[in-house]
Amino acid sequence: MLMDELNRQIYGCKKCRLWQGAKHGVPGEGPLNAKVMLIGQNPGADEDELGRPFVGRAGKFLTKTLAEYGIKREDIFITNIVKHVSPENRKPYSDEVAACLPYLITQISFIKPKIIVLLGASAKETPRIDGIEYIQVIHPSAAMRFTKMREKFRKQIAELAKRIKQN
Ligand code: SF4
Repeated sequence: MLMDELNRQIYGCKKCRLWQGAKHGVPGEGPLNAKVMLIGQNPGADEDELGRPFVGRAGKFLTKTLAEYGIKREDIFITNIVKHVSPENRKPYSDEVAACLPYLITQISFIKPKIIVLLGASAKETPRIDGIEYIQVIHPSAAMRFTKMREKFRKQIAELAKRIKQN
């Protein structure tokens, strides 16, 4: 399968320096016919440990909030722009983003989602493709920390639920 082959390439990738400090590549997960893709910036320590995206505290908060608005995590393809964790969880450098971006572009071309949800900083770096609706959402880790952000995050997820129903 094409996605399995892509995942193998990511697990063995050495195109930038990030693989050196990582335990696992984190290609992403979800159905290949997902209507919605959700894209964060890079995996954190919990994700590196398990090789799965958004499984730490922020990921659990995201999954719970999605469920509150009737969106099942398992219906969404969840990934990040950069597929390996960064040292000290720093923001990935622009050359790392550039090296990794082709994997994301290939994933988008396989899945052909109707909606892409951009979490936090991923919004700037994700290429825009005609025919896909892009929805920008506050990063769940910020929403967890600040009440005002949390309220806005909930409104954004409610709006996302509406858009999913309309598609
Ligand atoms: S972060 Fe991306 S480009 Fe860098 S080594 Fe990992 S998979 Fe390759």
